[in-house]
Amino acid sequence: MRLLLVEDNVALADELVPLLQHHGYAVDWLVDGRDAAVQASDNCYDIIVLDLGLPGRDGIEILQEWRALKLTIAVLVLTARDTWADRIDGLKAGADDYLTKPFHPEELVLRIQALVRRTHSMTNQPMLEVGGLQLDEDRHCVISGTSRIQLTGSEFQLLRYFMLHAGKLLSRSHLAEHLYDNERERDSNVIEVHINRLRGKLGRSVIETRRGQGYLFRGVSA
Ligand code: CA
Repeated sequence: MRLLLVEDNVALADELVPLLQHHGYAVDWLVDGRDAAVQASDNCYDIIVLDLGLPGRDGIEILQEWRALKLTIAVLVLTARDTWADRIDGLKAGADDYLTKPFHPEELVLRIQALVRRTHSMTNQPMLEVGGLQLDEDRHCVISGTSRIQLTGSEFQLLRYFMLHAGKLLSRSHLAEHLYDNERERDSNVIEVHINRLRGKLGRSVIETRRGQGYLFRGVSA
């Protein structure tokens, strides 16, 4: 999942970026509000974490603009402003969730996970559960029937994305854009390798290949 972090506090961003990467997010970090306003409109993000007090442009104003442009990406707002009026402003502007500074970084991760499930209509699930599989996002393992299967970071990222988009045909270029940071990983052969490793662990039919079009998550049969 590609995540845009907009935060001008460098020390905080230095703490959050590796943590979010560890939890399987491809993270782009921006400091300036003007850059964020433009970059998010490219629409390749799955979630945005937005600080409100930013150089360049105010976070609330940017959020209002995104919503006016019908950008539906889930936005979690970070703010030091702990007053009701500011919270209400943020929610009215279209924030999906709120976290007041200071916060524990792990709380941000849990809120992002919950917000992503909510965005994909999996509201009350404590774990991501699709197609006969349960994904443990903290331990990077998948539960299939009675077995618990450990995944590598890349396999985890890929399987989570497939589970969130079950039944949708995903092209290689789409997967590359949403999952990976660098060119080497974006190589389509690398995606093929990770998909084959997932098939090795979960069964060949878990992900179907549609030649020339992409991949489809099928899950495991009971
Ligand atoms: Ca700030």
